[in-house]
Amino acid sequence: MIGAGAIGLGTAWHLAQQGHDVSVYDPRLNQSVDREGSANDLSGTSASLGVLMGHVFRRSSGRGWRLRRRSMELWPQWIETLQAHQPDLRLHPGLLQIAEDEQAAKRMEALAAQRVDLGLQMVTNADLAAVWPTARHGGLHSRHDGRVNPLLLQRALRQALAEQSVELNAMAVDHLERNDNHWRVHRADGDSSVHNLVVLCTALHSDVLLEPLGQARPMTPVLGQALSLELTTGPTTWNNWPSVLVDQGFNLIPTAPGRLLLGATVEPGDRASEDPLTLMRNLNERAPEWLRSAKVVGHWSGLRARPVDRPAPLLEELEPGLILASGHYRNGVLLTPGTAEWVAAEVEQRSLEQA
Ligand SMILES: Cc1cc2nc3c(=O)[nH]c(=O)nc-3n(C[C@H](O)[C@H](O)[C@H](O)COP(=O)(O)OP(=O)(O)OC[C@H]3O[C@@H](n4cnc5c(N)ncnc54)[C@H](O)[C@@H]3O)c2cc1C
Repeated sequence: MIGAGAIGLGTAWHLAQQGHDVSVYDPRLNQSVDREGSANDLSGTSASLGVLMGHVFRRSSGRGWRLRRRSMELWPQWIETLQAHQPDLRLHPGLLQIAEDEQAAKRMEALAAQRVDLGLQMVTNADLAAVWPTARHGGLHSRHDGRVNPLLLQRALRQALAEQSVELNAMAVDHLERNDNHWRVHRADGDSSVHNLVVLCTALHSDVLLEPLGQARPMTPVLGQALSLELTTGPTTWNNWPSVLVDQGFNLIPTAPGRLLLGATVEPGDRASEDPLTLMRNLNERAPEWLRSAKVVGHWSGLRARPVDRPAPLLEELEPGLILASGHYRNGVLLTPGTAEWVAAEVEQRSLEQA
Protein backbone atom coordinates (compact mmCIF):
# COMPACT_ATOMS: atom_id res chain seq x y z
CA MET A 1 0.00 0.00 0.00
CA ILE A 2 1.60 3.31 -1.02
CA GLY A 3 0.07 6.32 0.73
CA ALA A 4 -1.42 6.43 4.19
CA GLY A 5 -4.27 8.92 3.99
CA ALA A 6 -7.82 7.71 4.62
CA ILE A 7 -7.79 5.61 1.45
CA GLY A 8 -4.44 3.88 2.02
CA LEU A 9 -4.97 3.30 5.75
CA GLY A 10 -8.58 2.16 5.36
CA THR A 11 -7.73 -0.19 2.49
CA ALA A 12 -4.71 -1.63 4.33
CA TRP A 13 -6.90 -2.25 7.38
CA HIS A 14 -9.61 -3.96 5.38
CA LEU A 15 -7.08 -6.18 3.56
CA ALA A 16 -5.28 -7.07 6.81
CA GLN A 17 -8.61 -8.01 8.39
CA GLN A 18 -9.13 -10.41 5.51
CA GLY A 19 -5.82 -12.09 6.29
CA HIS A 20 -3.61 -10.45 3.65
CA ASP A 21 -0.01 -9.66 4.44
CA VAL A 22 0.16 -5.85 4.06
CA SER A 23 2.96 -3.25 4.13
CA VAL A 24 2.24 0.48 4.06
CA TYR A 25 4.64 3.20 2.84
CA ASP A 26 4.24 6.90 3.56
CA PRO A 27 6.79 9.42 4.89
CA ARG A 28 4.00 10.98 6.97
CA LEU A 29 3.76 7.85 9.10
CA ASN A 30 6.43 9.18 11.44
CA GLN A 31 4.40 12.36 12.05
CA SER A 32 1.48 12.51 14.43
CA VAL A 33 -1.93 13.04 12.84
CA ASP A 34 -2.49 16.69 13.69
CA ARG A 35 -3.23 20.03 12.14
CA GLU A 36 -1.20 22.13 14.56
CA GLY A 37 2.12 23.31 13.23
CA SER A 38 1.55 21.91 9.76
CA ALA A 39 -1.45 23.85 8.52
CA ASN A 40 0.22 24.42 5.14
CA ASP A 41 1.41 20.90 4.55
CA LEU A 42 -1.52 18.70 5.33
CA SER A 43 -2.48 15.55 3.51
CA GLY A 44 -5.91 15.71 1.86
CA THR A 45 -7.35 13.63 4.67
CA SER A 46 -5.95 15.74 7.50
CA ALA A 47 -7.19 18.92 5.80
CA SER A 48 -10.63 17.48 5.25
CA LEU A 49 -13.72 18.04 7.34
CA GLY A 50 -14.86 14.42 7.16
CA VAL A 51 -18.32 15.26 5.86
CA LEU A 52 -20.21 12.20 4.60
CA MET A 53 -22.53 13.37 1.80
CA GLY A 54 -23.67 9.94 0.76
CA HIS A 55 -27.42 9.74 0.45
CA VAL A 56 -27.90 13.30 -0.81
CA PHE A 57 -25.94 12.47 -3.97
CA ARG A 58 -27.94 13.68 -6.95
CA ARG A 59 -27.66 10.66 -9.22
CA SER A 60 -29.41 7.36 -8.52
CA SER A 61 -27.34 5.04 -10.69
CA GLY A 62 -23.77 4.49 -11.79
CA ARG A 63 -20.54 3.75 -9.95
CA GLY A 64 -20.55 7.03 -7.98
CA TRP A 65 -23.89 6.27 -6.42
CA ARG A 66 -23.06 2.61 -5.77
CA LEU A 67 -19.80 3.56 -4.02
CA ARG A 68 -21.56 6.15 -1.89
CA ARG A 69 -24.39 3.84 -0.89
CA ARG A 70 -22.07 1.00 -0.06
CA SER A 71 -19.75 3.27 1.93
CA MET A 72 -22.69 4.60 3.94
CA GLU A 73 -23.76 1.01 4.64
CA LEU A 74 -20.27 0.10 5.84
CA TRP A 75 -19.51 3.16 7.99
CA PRO A 76 -21.45 2.16 11.14
CA GLN A 77 -19.58 -1.16 11.36
CA TRP A 78 -16.24 0.49 10.61
CA ILE A 79 -16.74 3.06 13.36
CA GLU A 80 -17.92 0.49 15.88
CA THR A 81 -14.82 -1.65 15.32
CA LEU A 82 -12.41 1.29 15.23
CA GLN A 83 -13.77 2.74 18.46
CA ALA A 84 -11.71 0.08 20.26
CA HIS A 85 -8.69 2.19 19.26
CA GLN A 86 -10.16 5.71 19.54
CA PRO A 87 -13.18 5.72 21.84
CA ASP A 88 -14.03 9.31 20.81
CA LEU A 89 -14.36 8.34 17.15
CA ARG A 90 -18.03 8.61 16.27
CA LEU A 91 -20.35 8.74 13.33
CA HIS A 92 -22.01 12.14 13.85
CA PRO A 93 -25.37 11.74 12.09
CA GLY A 94 -27.53 14.35 10.39
CA LEU A 95 -26.79 16.55 7.39
CA LEU A 96 -28.96 19.47 6.34
CA GLN A 97 -28.66 21.04 2.90
CA ILE A 98 -30.26 24.45 2.49
CA ALA A 99 -32.02 24.93 -0.87
CA GLU A 100 -30.53 27.89 -2.73
CA ASP A 101 -33.54 28.53 -4.94
CA GLU A 102 -36.86 27.07 -6.03
CA GLN A 103 -35.21 24.81 -8.59
CA ALA A 104 -32.90 23.32 -5.97
CA ALA A 105 -35.86 22.82 -3.66
CA LYS A 106 -37.72 20.92 -6.40
CA ARG A 107 -34.73 18.69 -7.00
CA MET A 108 -34.45 18.00 -3.29
CA GLU A 109 -38.14 17.19 -3.06
CA ALA A 110 -37.81 14.61 -5.82
CA LEU A 111 -34.80 13.04 -4.10
CA ALA A 112 -36.52 12.99 -0.72
CA ALA A 113 -39.55 11.25 -2.26
CA GLN A 114 -37.32 8.56 -3.79
CA ARG A 115 -35.16 8.02 -0.72
CA VAL A 116 -37.51 8.01 2.23
CA ASP A 117 -36.08 4.61 3.20
CA LEU A 118 -32.59 6.07 3.25
CA GLY A 119 -33.66 8.74 5.74
CA LEU A 120 -34.14 11.77 3.47
CA GLN A 121 -36.79 14.32 4.31
CA MET A 122 -37.67 17.87 3.22
CA VAL A 123 -37.77 20.57 5.88
CA THR A 124 -39.67 23.85 5.62
CA ASN A 125 -38.51 27.40 6.31
CA ALA A 126 -40.57 27.26 9.51
CA ASP A 127 -38.70 24.11 10.62
CA LEU A 128 -35.45 25.93 9.93
CA ALA A 129 -36.32 29.13 11.78
CA ALA A 130 -34.33 28.26 14.90
CA VAL A 131 -31.29 27.00 13.00
CA TRP A 132 -30.95 28.96 9.75
CA PRO A 133 -33.50 31.78 9.61
CA THR A 134 -32.19 33.07 6.25
CA ALA A 135 -33.45 29.94 4.45
CA ARG A 136 -36.05 30.92 1.83
CA HIS A 137 -36.73 27.63 0.06
CA GLY A 138 -36.51 25.03 2.79
CA GLY A 139 -33.92 22.29 2.80
CA LEU A 140 -33.19 18.60 2.65
CA HIS A 141 -32.37 16.65 5.80
CA SER A 142 -30.47 13.38 5.56
CA ARG A 143 -30.65 11.35 8.74
CA HIS A 144 -27.73 8.99 8.08
CA ASP A 145 -25.30 11.29 6.26
CA GLY A 146 -23.15 13.36 8.58
CA ARG A 147 -19.54 13.38 9.57
CA VAL A 148 -16.55 11.55 11.00
CA ASN A 149 -13.55 13.29 12.50
CA PRO A 150 -10.79 12.57 9.93
CA LEU A 151 -7.98 12.98 12.46
CA LEU A 152 -9.45 10.47 14.90
CA LEU A 153 -10.20 8.17 11.99
CA GLN A 154 -6.57 8.15 10.85
CA ARG A 155 -5.28 7.66 14.40
CA ALA A 156 -7.65 4.75 14.93
CA LEU A 157 -6.65 3.14 11.62
CA ARG A 158 -2.93 3.53 12.34
CA GLN A 159 -3.40 1.91 15.76
CA ALA A 160 -5.50 -0.89 14.30
CA LEU A 161 -2.82 -1.56 11.69
CA ALA A 162 -0.04 -1.59 14.27
CA GLU A 163 -2.03 -4.12 16.30
CA GLN A 164 -2.53 -6.30 13.25
CA SER A 165 1.25 -6.29 12.79
CA VAL A 166 0.99 -4.51 9.44
CA GLU A 167 4.42 -3.18 8.47
CA LEU A 168 4.25 0.63 8.63
CA ASN A 169 7.18 2.17 6.75
CA ALA A 170 7.65 5.90 7.30
CA MET A 171 9.29 6.18 3.92
CA ALA A 172 8.43 7.58 0.49
CA VAL A 173 8.44 5.26 -2.48
CA ASP A 174 10.78 6.54 -5.16
CA HIS A 175 9.81 4.28 -8.04
CA LEU A 176 8.23 0.97 -8.95
CA GLU A 177 9.71 -1.77 -11.07
CA ARG A 178 7.97 -4.69 -12.75
CA ASN A 179 9.64 -7.93 -11.85
CA ASP A 180 8.06 -10.88 -13.68
CA ASN A 181 4.85 -11.44 -11.75
CA HIS A 182 5.90 -9.17 -8.90
CA TRP A 183 6.60 -5.55 -8.16
CA ARG A 184 9.81 -4.19 -6.72
CA VAL A 185 9.12 -1.16 -4.54
CA HIS A 186 12.14 1.16 -4.42
CA ARG A 187 12.15 3.35 -1.35
CA ALA A 188 13.62 6.83 -1.06
CA ASP A 189 16.44 5.49 1.18
CA GLY A 190 17.65 3.25 -1.66
CA ASP A 191 16.33 0.04 -0.12
CA SER A 192 13.75 -2.06 -1.95
CA SER A 193 11.37 -4.95 -1.40
CA VAL A 194 9.27 -7.24 -3.58
CA HIS A 195 5.47 -7.51 -3.41
CA ASN A 196 2.83 -9.51 -5.28
CA LEU A 197 0.66 -6.49 -5.64
CA VAL A 198 0.91 -2.71 -5.27
CA VAL A 199 -1.99 -0.40 -4.42
CA LEU A 200 -1.37 3.29 -5.14
CA CYS A 201 -3.26 5.58 -2.76
CA THR A 202 -1.06 8.59 -3.36
CA ALA A 203 -3.71 11.12 -4.45
CA LEU A 204 -2.09 14.00 -6.39
CA HIS A 205 1.32 12.31 -6.38
CA SER A 206 0.24 9.21 -8.25
CA ASP A 207 1.63 10.25 -11.64
CA VAL A 208 5.15 10.59 -10.25
CA LEU A 209 5.09 6.82 -9.80
CA LEU A 210 2.93 5.99 -12.81
CA GLU A 211 4.60 7.96 -15.60
CA PRO A 212 7.90 6.02 -15.58
CA LEU A 213 5.79 2.89 -16.06
CA GLY A 214 4.19 4.34 -19.17
CA GLN A 215 0.92 4.97 -17.40
CA ALA A 216 -0.55 8.39 -16.80
CA ARG A 217 -3.56 9.49 -14.85
CA PRO A 218 -3.23 13.28 -14.57
CA MET A 219 -4.99 15.03 -11.70
CA THR A 220 -5.40 18.72 -10.90
CA PRO A 221 -5.23 20.19 -7.42
CA VAL A 222 -8.35 21.90 -6.14
CA LEU A 223 -7.75 23.86 -3.00
CA GLY A 224 -10.06 23.73 -0.03
CA GLN A 225 -9.96 25.93 3.03
CA ALA A 226 -11.33 25.55 6.50
CA LEU A 227 -11.71 27.82 9.50
CA SER A 228 -12.15 26.94 13.12
CA LEU A 229 -14.36 29.60 14.72
CA GLU A 230 -15.25 30.68 18.23
CA LEU A 231 -18.54 32.52 18.55
CA THR A 232 -18.70 35.77 20.47
CA THR A 233 -22.49 36.02 20.20
CA GLY A 234 -25.25 33.73 19.04
CA PRO A 235 -25.98 30.11 19.85
CA THR A 236 -24.20 28.79 22.90
CA THR A 237 -25.43 25.27 22.41
CA TRP A 238 -26.22 23.59 19.11
CA ASN A 239 -29.58 22.14 20.08
CA ASN A 240 -31.66 21.48 16.95
CA TRP A 241 -28.57 21.63 14.76
CA PRO A 242 -27.58 18.77 12.50
CA SER A 243 -23.97 17.51 12.56
CA VAL A 244 -23.42 19.31 9.25
CA LEU A 245 -25.27 22.24 7.69
CA VAL A 246 -24.52 22.95 4.02
CA ASP A 247 -25.42 26.31 2.50
CA GLN A 248 -24.23 27.23 -1.01
CA GLY A 249 -21.44 24.68 -0.82
CA PHE A 250 -20.17 25.88 2.56
CA ASN A 251 -20.11 23.33 5.35
CA LEU A 252 -20.84 24.45 8.90
CA ILE A 253 -19.96 21.90 11.55
CA PRO A 254 -20.61 22.50 15.26
CA THR A 255 -17.80 20.92 17.27
CA ALA A 256 -18.37 22.16 20.85
CA PRO A 257 -20.50 24.79 22.60
CA GLY A 258 -19.73 28.10 20.86
CA ARG A 259 -17.31 26.44 18.42
CA LEU A 260 -17.69 25.41 14.79
CA LEU A 261 -15.78 24.60 11.64
CA LEU A 262 -16.53 26.35 8.36
CA GLY A 263 -15.23 24.92 5.11
CA ALA A 264 -15.36 25.98 1.50
CA THR A 265 -16.01 23.30 -1.04
CA VAL A 266 -14.28 24.34 -4.21
CA GLU A 267 -11.51 26.76 -5.08
CA PRO A 268 -9.60 25.89 -8.26
CA GLY A 269 -5.81 26.15 -8.03
CA ASP A 270 -3.36 25.34 -5.32
CA ARG A 271 -2.87 28.65 -3.50
CA ALA A 272 -4.85 29.70 -0.46
CA SER A 273 -6.60 33.03 -0.90
CA GLU A 274 -5.01 35.81 1.10
CA ASP A 275 -7.72 36.56 3.55
CA PRO A 276 -9.37 33.49 5.01
CA LEU A 277 -12.22 35.64 6.28
CA THR A 278 -13.41 36.05 2.71
CA LEU A 279 -14.67 32.53 3.12
CA MET A 280 -17.24 33.78 5.55
CA ARG A 281 -18.07 36.88 3.55
CA ASN A 282 -18.74 34.65 0.57
CA LEU A 283 -21.69 33.25 2.40
CA ASN A 284 -23.60 35.73 0.27
CA GLU A 285 -25.60 37.73 2.74
CA ARG A 286 -26.87 34.54 4.29
CA ALA A 287 -24.28 34.44 7.05
CA PRO A 288 -25.98 35.28 10.32
CA GLU A 289 -24.45 38.01 12.44
CA TRP A 290 -23.02 35.53 14.96
CA LEU A 291 -21.06 33.90 12.15
CA ARG A 292 -19.74 37.19 10.76
CA SER A 293 -18.55 38.26 14.19
CA ALA A 294 -17.01 34.91 15.15
CA LYS A 295 -13.32 34.85 16.03
CA VAL A 296 -11.01 32.78 13.84
CA VAL A 297 -9.04 30.41 16.07
CA GLY A 298 -7.69 28.13 13.37
CA HIS A 299 -7.20 28.17 9.61
CA TRP A 300 -5.86 25.53 7.27
CA SER A 301 -6.00 24.49 3.65
CA GLY A 302 -5.39 21.37 1.63
CA LEU A 303 -5.50 20.02 -1.88
CA ARG A 304 -8.05 17.71 -3.41
CA ALA A 305 -7.01 15.48 -6.31
CA ARG A 306 -9.41 15.88 -9.22
CA PRO A 307 -8.83 13.49 -12.14
CA VAL A 308 -8.46 15.19 -15.53
CA ASP A 309 -11.12 14.13 -18.05
CA ARG A 310 -12.22 11.15 -15.95
CA PRO A 311 -14.80 10.88 -13.23
CA ALA A 312 -13.56 10.72 -9.63
CA PRO A 313 -12.36 8.45 -8.13
CA LEU A 314 -9.82 6.51 -10.17
CA LEU A 315 -10.27 2.86 -9.26
CA GLU A 316 -8.47 0.68 -11.77
CA GLU A 317 -6.12 -2.23 -12.14
CA LEU A 318 -3.67 -0.54 -14.53
CA GLU A 319 -1.68 -3.67 -15.20
CA PRO A 320 -1.48 -7.02 -13.46
CA GLY A 321 -0.83 -6.39 -9.78
CA LEU A 322 -0.83 -2.59 -10.04
CA ILE A 323 -3.99 -1.10 -8.58
CA LEU A 324 -4.77 2.61 -8.52
CA ALA A 325 -7.15 3.89 -5.82
CA SER A 326 -6.73 7.67 -6.01
CA GLY A 327 -8.29 10.87 -7.25
CA HIS A 328 -11.16 10.90 -4.78
CA TYR A 329 -11.48 14.67 -5.18
CA ARG A 330 -14.15 15.94 -2.76
CA ASN A 331 -15.25 12.70 -1.17
CA GLY A 332 -12.25 10.58 -0.24
CA VAL A 333 -13.20 10.24 3.41
CA LEU A 334 -16.80 9.37 2.58
CA LEU A 335 -15.72 6.77 0.01
CA THR A 336 -13.02 5.09 2.10
CA PRO A 337 -14.99 1.94 3.09
CA GLY A 338 -16.41 1.39 -0.41
CA THR A 339 -12.96 1.91 -1.94
CA ALA A 340 -11.37 -0.58 0.47
CA GLU A 341 -13.99 -3.14 -0.45
CA TRP A 342 -13.44 -2.54 -4.17
CA VAL A 343 -9.67 -3.05 -3.80
CA ALA A 344 -10.22 -6.23 -1.74
CA ALA A 345 -12.43 -7.62 -4.50
CA GLU A 346 -9.70 -6.89 -7.08
CA VAL A 347 -7.10 -8.58 -4.89
CA GLU A 348 -9.37 -11.59 -4.48
CA GLN A 349 -9.93 -11.78 -8.22
CA ARG A 350 -6.19 -11.75 -8.84
CA SER A 351 -5.58 -14.55 -6.31
CA LEU A 352 -8.26 -16.65 -8.05
CA GLU A 353 -6.63 -16.05 -11.43
CA GLN A 354 -3.23 -17.08 -10.09
CA ALA A 355 -4.51 -20.20 -8.27
C1 LIG B 1 -10.20 21.38 2.83
C2 LIG B 1 -10.70 20.03 2.40
C3 LIG B 1 -11.90 19.57 2.88
C4 LIG B 1 -12.36 18.31 2.52
N1 LIG B 1 -13.53 17.87 3.05
C5 LIG B 1 -13.94 16.60 2.77
C6 LIG B 1 -15.09 16.10 3.39
O1 LIG B 1 -15.73 16.82 4.17
N2 LIG B 1 -15.48 14.82 3.12
C7 LIG B 1 -14.77 14.02 2.28
O2 LIG B 1 -15.16 12.85 2.08
N3 LIG B 1 -13.65 14.49 1.66
C8 LIG B 1 -13.25 15.76 1.90
N4 LIG B 1 -12.12 16.24 1.28
C9 LIG B 1 -11.46 15.41 0.27
C10 LIG B 1 -10.65 14.35 0.96
O3 LIG B 1 -9.81 14.95 1.88
C11 LIG B 1 -9.82 13.55 -0.04
O4 LIG B 1 -10.64 13.08 -1.08
C12 LIG B 1 -9.18 12.36 0.69
O5 LIG B 1 -8.50 12.80 1.81
C13 LIG B 1 -8.26 11.60 -0.20
O6 LIG B 1 -7.61 10.64 0.60
P1 LIG B 1 -6.31 9.95 0.09
O7 LIG B 1 -5.95 8.93 1.09
O8 LIG B 1 -6.53 9.53 -1.32
O9 LIG B 1 -5.24 11.14 -0.02
P2 LIG B 1 -4.34 11.84 1.09
O10 LIG B 1 -5.01 11.96 2.39
O11 LIG B 1 -3.82 13.09 0.45
O12 LIG B 1 -3.15 10.82 1.27
C14 LIG B 1 -2.21 10.55 0.28
C15 LIG B 1 -0.93 10.10 0.99
O13 LIG B 1 -0.01 9.60 0.02
C16 LIG B 1 1.28 9.90 0.49
N5 LIG B 1 2.22 9.81 -0.63
C17 LIG B 1 2.27 10.57 -1.76
N6 LIG B 1 3.30 10.19 -2.54
C18 LIG B 1 3.91 9.15 -1.90
C19 LIG B 1 5.03 8.32 -2.21
N7 LIG B 1 5.74 8.48 -3.34
N8 LIG B 1 5.39 7.36 -1.33
C20 LIG B 1 4.69 7.16 -0.18
N9 LIG B 1 3.61 7.93 0.16
C21 LIG B 1 3.24 8.90 -0.70
C22 LIG B 1 1.15 11.30 1.07
O14 LIG B 1 2.21 11.57 2.00
C23 LIG B 1 -0.23 11.25 1.73
O15 LIG B 1 -0.15 10.96 3.11
C24 LIG B 1 -11.62 17.49 1.63
C25 LIG B 1 -10.40 17.95 1.14
C26 LIG B 1 -9.93 19.21 1.51
C27 LIG B 1 -8.60 19.65 0.99
